[in-house]
Amino acid sequence: MSTSIPATATATPECVFCKIIGGKIPASITYQDEHVLAFKDLEPAAPFHELVLPLRHVAALADAALADAELFGRLMVAAAERARSTGHAASGFRVVMNSGPSAGQTVFHVHLHVLAGRPLAWPPG
Ligand code: AMP
Ligand code: ZN
Repeated sequence: MSTSIPATATATPECVFCKIIGGKIPASITYQDEHVLAFKDLEPAAPFHELVLPLRHVAALADAALADAELFGRLMVAAAERARSTGHAASGFRVVMNSGPSAGQTVFHVHLHVLAGRPLAWPPG
């Protein structure tokens, strides 16, 4: 894909994840590149639970457009890299993106949950 992604974070003042990106509130950051940030979930639902999100504010997957395709792909690749580099790729891991209140989205800055370290039941609740 030849389109380039604006690398600059478009911070949304009330967004807690934009505040983490801007260094205004702390987080246990595990990975960062020019488009993506990963950090440990504050309330882990599994022994390994990290969030992978774009630096650019996108509220929900429901808002995704074709122009965002590369960015969303980068989130998936970063999630796989986190699973590999922490030794969870072989045993298995799960990536989840909640979109909207009924799906359980509570922070409206898109993020992948990367979960591993225990058997993960299917279907999810
Ligand atoms: P979701 O419910 O899918 O929107 O996921 C939001 C996730 O963000 C939850 O798993 C929270 O535990 C996590 N979370 C909220 N605030 C913070 C924070 N300040 N640092 C790390 N994780 C957070
Ligand atoms: Zn945000």
